[in-house]
Parts: sequence; C-alpha cells; structure tokens
Amino acid sequence: MIRCFFKLTTLFTSIVLMFSFGACNSSADNREKDFVKGVYGDPGTLLEAGYNFNELGLNAIFVRSYSLNDELYHTAREQGCKIFVEFPVLLGGNFLEDNPQCAPIEPSGEMSPPADWFMGVCPTCPDFKEDRREYLKSILDQFNVDGVFLDYLHWHAQFETPDPILPETCFCERCTNLFFTKNNIDSPEQDIPETSNFILTYYENEWREWRSTILTNWIIDLKEILKSNQPKSLLGLFYCSWYPDEYDSALYRIMGIDIDDFVKEADVLAPMLFHHMKDRPVNWIGEYLNWLDSVSTSIRPGSTPEIWPIVQAHNNPGEVSPEEFREAMTQGSSAPSSGIMMFSDRALLDDPRKIEVMKELYLTEP
Ligand SMILES: [Zn+2]
Repeated sequence: MIRCFFKLTTLFTSIVLMFSFGACNSSADNREKDFVKGVYGDPGTLLEAGYNFNELGLNAIFVRSYSLNDELYHTAREQGCKIFVEFPVLLGGNFLEDNPQCAPIEPSGEMSPPADWFMGVCPTCPDFKEDRREYLKSILDQFNVDGVFLDYLHWHAQFETPDPILPETCFCERCTNLFFTKNNIDSPEQDIPETSNFILTYYENEWREWRSTILTNWIIDLKEILKSNQPKSLLGLFYCSWYPDEYDSALYRIMGIDIDDFVKEADVLAPMLFHHMKDRPVNWIGEYLNWLDSVSTSIRPGSTPEIWPIVQAHNNPGEVSPEEFREAMTQGSSAPSSGIMMFSDRALLDDPRKIEVMKELYLTEP
C-alpha cells in the first residue's frame, strides 16, 4: 500500500528521501531481506590499502570479471561478502582488432568510430557471441558466484557523457539480411547506403523492434548459461538509466533497450545512476527509482526484480564532493531499492572522506 503511495507522490517522496538513509524500511517488503551494501570495481584495492570489508560495512562486492582472482574471492568470502561479477557484453574494442567482420556499420557503409572511450560491436556477429559465451562459461567454471551482472548492454553508443554519442548501427550485410529474413521483406539488393535508406524510410518501426529483440536475446542466451551452470546465481543488468522519451527516444531507438524486456528477464536491475556524468541533479536518482518501481510493478506484478542502483562517487567531470556522494547514496538506497553500490573503489581511495561517508551509512543501517 505504501509502495503505491510512493508512485503517486514521486516528487514529494524524492525530497523526503534526501534526508534519511533507509528511512522507508517499514514500507518495502524486499527490505526485510539483507540490504545489499556493495562497492563496484576492483575491490581488492581496498584490501591492498589496508581496509577490511567488514570494517567498511560491506556485505557484497561487485567485481569486474578480469579483476576477480582466487585471493580476492576467498578473502571476500572469509569476510562474509557476497560476490557478484560484472560481465562485459557488447564491449568490442579489443576483439575488433583481429575481427573486423564484427565491426558496427553506419548507414554510409563505414565502420562506426569509437564513441568516446567506448567501442561497441555488431550484436549479430556469431564470432563475438561465441567469444562471450565461452568467456562466461570460463568464469562460472572457476568461481561460484552469487550473481553475474551484465554490462555494456546496448548497441554501439555512448551515454555516460552530458552530450551522448548516438550513431545509427548496424547496417552490415549480416544484420540487414537477418532483418529482411525475419520480417519477410524482399531485400532490395542494393549497396549499404541504399539499403539503410530503404530500411529507415519504409521499415523503421520493424527495424527498431528487431534491434531490441537482438539485444534481449543476448540477455536470454547468457542467462541460460548462467542458470544452467549455477541455478541459484542471480542475473543482474547494468544499464543506461535514461527515461524512454529522452534524447528522441534514444534508449530504444539507438541503444535497442526495451525496458519492459529488461524487467522481465532480470533478477536484479542495476540502473547506472551517474548523476554527475549525466549532468543531472542528485534527486533525479530517487525520482528514477520510483519510476522504475512503477514500471516493474506493472510488468511483473507480485514478482518484481530487485533494484540495486549504482551511484557515482567518481570525480568526472569535475568533482563529486563527499556531501554530494552522501546524498546520492541516500537517494539510491531508499525504497524501492534493496541494495546499492557505488562507482567505484578507486574513487573512494582517491578521497578517503568518501570512504567515511560509505562506512557511516553502511554501518548505521540495520
Ligand atoms: Zn551488424
């Protein structure tokens, strides 16, 4: 009942939540479980700096796949932490060096250039998919984890900047032929500029829909590998937390994200609420989470995914002050969230005042 109240009073709630960490623990049934208090990145750096996960109030680590090793795994377990591994899905820069057949192609027929630091990949490239499938299996062979969090879940684009980079992709022959076959459309058998123009002129809706299906199928395929290997392990999704109508609907139109599908497939939704990188006020965090809760409830009534946002401690662009970080944590950890983490361990170590903020919040919250 109180959860319904939140949906009706989003703005008021957001303001109230700014002032009390976990003040709504009487309202949300999912907060009766252990609230997940995490850190994202390479948490081993905190150990190397002399900290102890227990002393910091952490009960979970979210570790990049390439930073997970036996020593970190065992230490985290000894200190009572759950271990969640971040899995990079459509991050293709290194792979493309030896596999140009997997490059994302723009309507001109040219390869789409890197979008700031990010280089995506063509999501229909079977070589890349096989590479990712094998990589996930190798992680699961090596470690028993509490969950896998898929990251870089979008068609080639850059959204972690105030001015996003949003190219139209992918018009490689493989993608367009798959699209024509799926939709029973006769291929015009033209060159790439003519074909892309044909699709965007006459079949744009079908094209956007097909692209989002391709992305959702990545989630379904990787989820199948996870659940068949470690059935109790949770599937988490890191994803761009734009509202669907922002940037001319670029979340769906360019990145291929159908938020309804994400809600359906996830055990845990981890929206990337990097307010500073996205040039948003801090109270956007609370507002977005309440919006996400309402979407989740409408799509999966009675069985909504957990919501564990990742908030920003990282100084870019400019500085996120300890006070601002505290506000971001407060907003992000209030209902409907049942867990939280911050980006990243390095940002904490760069400004130990932020470690104190995290510690105080984590140790005072039951
Ligand atoms: Zn393609």
